[in-house]
Amino acid sequence: MVTLVLAVLLLPAAFVRRPGRARELACRWALRMRFPAEDLTGLTDGALAAFTAARTEALWRHGQLIGLTSGYRDPLVQQRIFDEEVRRSGSPASARMLVLPPAESNHVKGIALDVRPHEGARWLEEHGARHDLYRMYDNEWWHFEYRPDSGGTPPRRRPHPGWRSERG
Ligand SMILES: [Zn+2]
Repeated sequence: MVTLVLAVLLLPAAFVRRPGRARELACRWALRMRFPAEDLTGLTDGALAAFTAARTEALWRHGQLIGLTSGYRDPLVQQRIFDEEVRRSGSPASARMLVLPPAESNHVKGIALDVRPHEGARWLEEHGARHDLYRMYDNEWWHFEYRPDSGGTPPRRRPHPGWRSERG
């Protein structure tokens, strides 16, 4: 709610700066104050535009705040996260329940978005399809992907990132 108030207060200034896109700009400013460490770089143009549109709508229509905890990841960073999870969980197979190696990760491709807080993720789950953003895994409420190729049909949600059909 604080962020929405902030966005409303910022709206006149945003209007002066960019009359046609004042709501989007005010939203971006408010989110930047709320989540100063957020890093949107490395996302594909499509993913960034979709995420920006989705959270502008979330804030102005429903007062819902959506922050990004992790978007694009460098392959080396992804490898380190995977290795750490292998150590923590005991095996590559169990690590894959939560993290994929760089060659398979959509964070490395710039189309995956880990969001917060929980209510923001719920909003995105409900309204994200309008922006081609979909929750992908049963065990990760925070992980969404930009999938414009799905033609409005949500991609089938899988139990966890490493899940594969037994029979291919
Ligand atoms: Zn993720």
